[in-house]
Amino acid sequence: MEVKILVVDDSLPDRLTIKNFLSEYSILTACDGMEAMRVLKEHDGINIIILNLRLPDMSGFQFLQSLKEDERLRKIRIIILTNSDELNNEIKGLRLGATDFVRKPLHKASLKTRIDVHASLLRAEFALEQRVDAQTITFDMIFKQAPIGIAISQSSDPKHSDQVIVRVNPVYEQITGRTKEELFYTGWEQITHPDDLEEDMKNLKKLHAGEIQCYSMEKRYIKPDGSVVWVYMVVAALTPGNNNKLNHICLIQDITERKQIEIERKYISEHDRLTGLYNRDYLELLFASDAKQKKSLQRAFVGINLINVQSITANYGFIYTQGLIKKIAEILRQYCTDKCILFHTHENRFVFYFVHYKDKNELIDFSNAITEALESQLATDRIGGGIGVLELEQDQYEADIDIVLRRLLIASERSISLFGKNFETCFYDQELEALVTREREVMEALIAIATDECTQDELFLQYQPVVNLKTGSVCGFEALARLSTEKLGMVPPAEFIPIAEKTKLIIPIGEKVIVKAFRFMNKLKELGYDAIKVSINTSAIQLLSPDFTCRMFEMIDQMQVNIRNIVIEITESVFTSDYEKINKIIEKLRETGMHIAIDDFGTGYSSLARENELRADSLKIDKCFIDKLSGEELDKAITSDIISIAHKLGHSAIAEGVEHDEQLQYLKKHGCDKIQGYLISKPLDEQAALEFLKKHV
Ligand code: C2E
Ligand code: MG
Ligand code: MG
Repeated sequence: MEVKILVVDDSLPDRLTIKNFLSEYSILTACDGMEAMRVLKEHDGINIIILNLRLPDMSGFQFLQSLKEDERLRKIRIIILTNSDELNNEIKGLRLGATDFVRKPLHKASLKTRIDVHASLLRAEFALEQRVDAQTITFDMIFKQAPIGIAISQSSDPKHSDQVIVRVNPVYEQITGRTKEELFYTGWEQITHPDDLEEDMKNLKKLHAGEIQCYSMEKRYIKPDGSVVWVYMVVAALTPGNNNKLNHICLIQDITERKQIEIERKYISEHDRLTGLYNRDYLELLFASDAKQKKSLQRAFVGINLINVQSITANYGFIYTQGLIKKIAEILRQYCTDKCILFHTHENRFVFYFVHYKDKNELIDFSNAITEALESQLATDRIGGGIGVLELEQDQYEADIDIVLRRLLIASERSISLFGKNFETCFYDQELEALVTREREVMEALIAIATDECTQDELFLQYQPVVNLKTGSVCGFEALARLSTEKLGMVPPAEFIPIAEKTKLIIPIGEKVIVKAFRFMNKLKELGYDAIKVSINTSAIQLLSPDFTCRMFEMIDQMQVNIRNIVIEITESVFTSDYEKINKIIEKLRETGMHIAIDDFGTGYSSLARENELRADSLKIDKCFIDKLSGEELDKAITSDIISIAHKLGHSAIAEGVEHDEQLQYLKKHGCDKIQGYLISKPLDEQAALEFLKKHV
C-alpha cells in the first residue's frame, strides 16, 4: 500500500525539509488551507496530513473542522505541527480529530519515526479492512446461496414474545412462502402452526435465559394459502450485539415430503384398512402411554362382539361380510367423542376406550344407546352379538391390553350366552372373574388328564342303569363322566363338558371315556352279562373329528369289546348344524352293529320332516317331557305322542329322568320301551353298578 502524505505549512523551508527526509513516501505540499483543500480534492488516497496550526488564510482548527465534516476525508490521520509553547492548541487539535503532534523546531529523526509508525498502522488497518471485506463477501454468498432457510431474529426481552425477524435469506422466503418484507412485518410466531408454537416458545425462552445454547425441533409453518410446510429447525443463540438485544439464528430445512410419508405410514400402522378406524396396535400404544403418564384417569372399555361372522361369510361371501362390518363401523363411529375413541380390534370385534367418564351409569346409557342403534339398523342383516364392559381401577396402570381385551371378550361372550345375540350388556366383575378363574382351573385339570400328567385330578365314570319296561330288568347302563379336581372337588359334567368342547379337549377326554366304558363292558362280559349295553355320550366335535370312526374301530379291536353292546348317544341339537355329515358318520357306525341313540330328544328343534332319515336306533325322550307327567300337567302331556312318533319312525323310546311312580305308570301305559332315572337308580360307581345289576337282572 502506498502512503501519501500532504504537508500543509506556510514555511517553504519546512515544507522542503520534510519532503526531503520523508522521500521514501509520496509527498504533496500546500502552503495554506485553501491550497490544501484543492490538493485533497485533486488527489485520492492521501492518508496522512502534517498540518501546521498557523496558516495564513485560516486557522488549523477550522481546517480540521472541515475535514471532520467531509465523509471522504474524515479518516485521514492528522499530525499537528506546533510550537513548544502551544500546549493548549495541541490538546484542542487532538480533540478535533488529530491523531498526533510534532513540535517545532523540527526534529527530523523524531518526525520520521512518528511517520513510520503511522504508516505501519495504516498498512495494518488496510490489510485488516481487506480481510473483513473478503469475509463479508463470503458470508453474504453463503447466506444467499445456502440450500437451507436462514433467519436472524431479535428480541429485547426473553419474557416477552416480541420476536422480530431482522434478516432472512431467499430459501427461508421460499420455504415459508413469504417475502422478506412480509416476514419482517409478521414475524415468525404468526406463521408458526398453533400446535407447535408452545414448544417453540418454551425452548426459545430457555435459550434466551442462557439455560441452553441451541435447540431443534420439527415444526410447521402456515403458508399464505393456508397450506402447511413441515421443517426441521435448529435455533441457536447469537451473542447480543451493541444494541444489547437477544439475537438468535434459525436454520430450517423443508421436510414436508418425508413428513408426509411418515404421516401416511403412521396412519397405516394405526388404522384398520377396512373400516378406517383405529386398530388394535394403536389401542395398545395409547393404553400404554396413558399408563406411563400415570394420570389418575377414569378408564373403561366397551366391547362389541359380533357372532356368526364366519358362518355369514361361508354363506354369503367375504364381500357381504366386509360390507356388514363397514356398516357397523359407521353406526358405531357416530358415538365417538374426544373422551371415547373407537377401535376395530379384530374382524368381529370393536372396542370403545373411555377416558374421564362420569360413572357406571354413563357406561350403561352408552351401551344401551349402542344396542338400540345396532338392533334397529341391523334388523335385516342376520348378525348379532353381545356387549361387554370393563371398568379399570384408577390406579390399575400395569394392566396389560391383552388382559383387558380378554376380559372384555369374556364379558361380551357372557352376554351372548345369557341373553343371546341381541347386543345386551354384561359388565366384567368379580363374579365373572371368579367364573373365568374356575373355567381356567377346569381347563387346566382337563389338560393334565388329557396329557396323562401325574396329577391328583381325576376323570372317572358312573353308570346309570337303564331298565327294559317289558321285562322289568336292567338292559344297560349309561356311562356318565365325572371330574374330580384337586382345587375344585367334584365338577359337574354340565360345567366341564362345554369347557372341554370349547377347547377341543373333548377329543382326548372323550377317548378316555370310551376306553373306561369299554373296560366296564369287558368286566360285564367277564361276569357273564353278554347282552348288557353301555351308552357312551359323544359330542359333535368328537364325532366330526377326522379320525373318530377309525379310532373307535381301533379301540374296539384292541379291547375286544362286543360291538353290539355299544350305544353311542348324540344330542339332538347337533343335527341342526351339520345334519348330513353327522348322519353319514352314524350310518357308518351302525353298519358295524353299533347302536345309536338320539339324546335329549324334543329339545333340539330338529325338523320332524327329516326325522325318518335319521339313522338312529332309539330316541331318548328328554327329562323335561317326563317332568310333565305328574299332577295337573298330565292331561296336556305330549310325551305319549313322542313315544308314538319314535315307534312310527322305527326307533325305540327311552325315557330319561324318571323320578316318580306316576311317571313310570304313564310310560308303561303308552308303550315306552325303556326308562332311566332316580326312580330306578342314581348314577353309580362301577362296583355299585355291578352289584345293582346282580340284583336286578
Ligand atoms: P345326559 O346324557 O342327558 O345324561 C343324563 C343326565 O341326567 C345325567 O346328568 C344324569 O345324572 C341325570 N339324571 C338321570 N336320571 C335323573 C333323574 O331322575 N333326575 C335328575 N334330576 N337327573 C337325572 P349328568 O351326569 O350330570 O350329565 C349331564 C350331561 O353331561 C349328560 O346329559 C351329557 O349330555 C353330558 N355328559 C356326561 N358324560 C358325558 C361324556 O362322557 N361325554 C359327553 N360328551 N357328554 C357327557
Ligand atoms: Mg346321555
Ligand atoms: Mg339326556
